[in-house]
Amino acid sequence: MEIRKVIPSGYCKGVVNAIRLAKKTRINHPDEPIYVLGMLVHNSFVSKELADLGIVTLDDTKKTKEELVDEIDSGIVIFTAHGISDRIREKVRNKGLSYVDASCVDVLKTQEIIRDRLKNGYDVIYFGKRNHPEAEAVLSISDRIHLVCNEEELKDLNVKNPKLFLTNQTTMSYLELKDLIEMAKEIYPQILVEKEICNATGSRQEAIMKLEDCDLLYVVGDSRSNNTRKLADIALRKGIKKVRMIQTSDEIDENDLKDVSNVYVTAGASTPPYLIDAVMDLLRAKAR
Ligand code: SF4
Repeated sequence: MEIRKVIPSGYCKGVVNAIRLAKKTRINHPDEPIYVLGMLVHNSFVSKELADLGIVTLDDTKKTKEELVDEIDSGIVIFTAHGISDRIREKVRNKGLSYVDASCVDVLKTQEIIRDRLKNGYDVIYFGKRNHPEAEAVLSISDRIHLVCNEEELKDLNVKNPKLFLTNQTTMSYLELKDLIEMAKEIYPQILVEKEICNATGSRQEAIMKLEDCDLLYVVGDSRSNNTRKLADIALRKGIKKVRMIQTSDEIDENDLKDVSNVYVTAGASTPPYLIDAVMDLLRAKAR
């Protein structure tokens, strides 16, 4: 049995930067309470690492970001890599709290592109994931941004403004985006399109598409991570028969290793390297 790691996989620059900022905030403010508004990046092991530094992740999905801010009376608030709405930023400021913005530059770039189009009179069709923090931050910019999560929702959408622009959440599947753009051009031939899948997401997805003779692919990451889930989607769409999403090496099922020759391991952009290494080590030990 051959075990190989898919390259690239794992941490992206936005995740590395967000974690660096959070740790730096702790070093610079050793005695202040520090809160992250949601998961800094979508991986519970990263949240745990931050908790060990006394950085509290406020992650009650039943509560809005506003409600989470209501719970903070003092200290520093960190905004996550997925971006934040102006309204929340304002609320944090008005409460007299200081903040650190860990929004990824690629997320901010997409927001800027959207703001520009809105300024020029366009309505925006935004392909993203409902209730995902990146999509929520974008939707808060204007009610002229219309979220679509799939082709069905695009079909049902009825935008009257002839000036239409389509873009997307940075971590979507490039294959799904391609299909959606084709459909959008059929419905709205005049639509302008800018693909905004970030380099990290795109290159990890393309690396999977290039795999040859893959019998089994492990996708290491948290199920809440959109880019991780999309790696699994792409693999299935490519036709890889056995695709397993796992968070740690403990979830490897021996039965999956029967009758396979070529095993690959990839990981989402928010998966810590030590989790990927542990999966590789265990698989290599079993291959001996
Ligand atoms: S996946 Fe892309 S958009 Fe998200 S943090 Fe990483 S580089 Fe930024």
